[in-house]
Amino acid sequence: MRRAVYPGSFDPVTNGHLDVIERASRLYDEVIVAVAHNESKTGLFSFEERMALLQEVVAHHPNVRITQFSGLLVDYARQVQAQVIIRGLRAVSDFEYEFQMALMNRKLEGGVETMFLMPKEEYTYLSSRLVKEIARLGGNIDVFVPDSIARALREKFSR
Ligand code: ADP
Repeated sequence: MRRAVYPGSFDPVTNGHLDVIERASRLYDEVIVAVAHNESKTGLFSFEERMALLQEVVAHHPNVRITQFSGLLVDYARQVQAQVIIRGLRAVSDFEYEFQMALMNRKLEGGVETMFLMPKEEYTYLSSRLVKEIARLGGNIDVFVPDSIARALREKFSR
């Protein structure tokens, strides 16, 4: 059983994340999308909202599971018996941080490999942070996120 963990904050999930999830789901028997539970880092969406929104948009992928984790990612990967950590690489700007994390994780746990997947070109400039900013300013975010996420964002900012 080839199992991969895809960790992140997903605040909220975007078409870029989904592109990476779909690619991973074709490569591995099971993909565990693990939402980082971090008490000190509050996002726009609560932890529960982020989990629920993800659940909805990956429901049609039978081999994708949404979970949560806290603590060290490599410990979590070992706990769920995943051989691989998936990360998305958008541009050179992602590289330095991701490279450092991947090597550190390898040092901590030699049995888990980090795999980088590149999204479709049109998603390489997409980030949750930018999508939130555009939504906050009343811009159109429909091409960046699934319908349910666009609705959730509009609701957040209409209050
Ligand atoms: P984090 O707070 O850990 O960066 P994110 O949820 O923003 O969490 O991202 C999780 C992973 O998804 C990271 O590897 C990030 O590079 C990747 N990612 C985010 N947006 C995109 C995108 N548009 N295309 C490809 N990968 C992405």
